[in-house]
Amino acid sequence: MTQRIAIIGGGFAGLTAAYELGKKGYPTFLFERMSELGGLAGTFPIEGTRLERGYHHWFTSDTHIIAQMEELGLGDRVQWIESKTGWFDDGRIWNVVSPTDLLRLGTLPLVDRLRLGLVLYYLTFLQARRNRMADYESITAAAWLKKYAGQRAWDKQLGPLFYGKFGAEAENIPLVWFWYKAVLRLGSRKGLTKEVLGYPRGSYQVLIDALADAIRKQGGKIYVGTTVQRVVVENGAAVGLRFADDAASQAAQRELAGDRSYARFDRIVCTAPSFATLKIVAELPADYVAKMKAAKYMAAVLLILKMKQPLSRIYWLNIADRTIPFVATIEHTNFIAPEVYGNKRILYVSNYLDPSSPYFQMSRDELFNAYVPHLQKINPSFAPDWVEELWHFKEAAAQPIVPLNYSKQIPEYRTPLRNLYLANTTQIYPEDRGTNYSVRLGQVIANLVEEDARRGN
Ligand SMILES: Cc1cc2nc3c(=O)[nH]c(=O)nc-3n(C[C@H](O)[C@H](O)[C@H](O)COP(=O)(O)OP(=O)(O)OC[C@H]3O[C@@H](n4cnc5c(N)ncnc54)[C@H](O)[C@@H]3O)c2cc1C
Repeated sequence: MTQRIAIIGGGFAGLTAAYELGKKGYPTFLFERMSELGGLAGTFPIEGTRLERGYHHWFTSDTHIIAQMEELGLGDRVQWIESKTGWFDDGRIWNVVSPTDLLRLGTLPLVDRLRLGLVLYYLTFLQARRNRMADYESITAAAWLKKYAGQRAWDKQLGPLFYGKFGAEAENIPLVWFWYKAVLRLGSRKGLTKEVLGYPRGSYQVLIDALADAIRKQGGKIYVGTTVQRVVVENGAAVGLRFADDAASQAAQRELAGDRSYARFDRIVCTAPSFATLKIVAELPADYVAKMKAAKYMAAVLLILKMKQPLSRIYWLNIADRTIPFVATIEHTNFIAPEVYGNKRILYVSNYLDPSSPYFQMSRDELFNAYVPHLQKINPSFAPDWVEELWHFKEAAAQPIVPLNYSKQIPEYRTPLRNLYLANTTQIYPEDRGTNYSVRLGQVIANLVEEDARRGN
């Protein structure tokens, strides 16, 4: 029997689920509320090409998305480039790629540098085994790192990064998060002294477009600018969708629902963040809702500067100086050649925060004016007239924050409502969220949906 399958969300999880189901002979209906596909990895036009709203790259461990690029004929667009990572503290930039860089990091006494180096070595090279997960998810990174790397290393090096990324939750983050981050980041080293990162020639848009084309060729339908307002539930099963009141969503409603009050579907996959899912599904039982609320989210605000000249020579600059109100600058054109962008320099200023933070509320120009004195700490000759164009993007569900012992609280893919599946970034664990894992998640969900459809469950 033909199945009508709906996918809510056109980020990498939704696009991959739709593509994989199409390959299995189940063309889908995909609904994305934004006017373009790509979700958190979406792009905007700049200098005749496209660029991600939030900086993006791959690690060498991102094998699912690289395989997807190859499968879609985009293998020749995968570039691996040596990256330059730095640290800003005590008024200067420090290189932090190799073990010798760490030894030269003059912001800490030598004994603390040695201790920190040993701790990182222990976590990555000696303990990169999943069987340590039970230990590492039951203790906070803050407690463990203060004990083994020392209080000074926490205060001066690691704490600022945790506070920059997780705000008030900084001291509550499980060690397992840091462990995986360190394992995967240090795993992207080429030898001990170089780090290589990946990026698609033409931006992530090339993969987003290739997935969308493939889905349409399989007979799938994609509706952008179309917001799902309600998952309709009858007798404990998801049976259809109702769309929002705006014109594009109503056009989908008319096309798919006809005279009925909702469009009927046999199976529905929701890739929206948990808080957005809870707004459109009212009938989930309390214990499942509690799981969906176990992970919270940090928001992100990004300011993108197109400049006449570079701010620094570093691609990824972690900001350890706590007087600076952002967590990192990512100078994209120190990674991808400026020629690709008409010889302009592109700098992201990245901030993770609670949506109630004044920096999240500020307008683009207010944010820029607030950041200028701090950018001048990084490069004292930086002047506002270096900047030719400015963009400002906000993401409410930028980064899930998982609690201790999260493996026992992850919401299941098959929700307690029959025929409704959840596939969002809170289910990516123990790795941190990333496009590679959303691709993997989309594949896992497609397999589950196919299995259920075949069995008639
Ligand atoms: C600043 C930043 C930097 C990042 N850097 C990297 C990086 O370097 N490398 C990397 O791999 N990853 C990176 N990521 C993470 C990566 O972008 C995400 O993990 C991934 O894109 C998530 O994809 P997703 O499909 O799971 O979710 P999303 O992209 O969030 O997709 C969910 C989609 O659902 C849609 N939606 C929600 N509600 C509705 C509704 N009611 N109706 C219709 N549609 C709806 C949303 O609009 C959205 O498009 C970064 C993220 C951020 C924020």
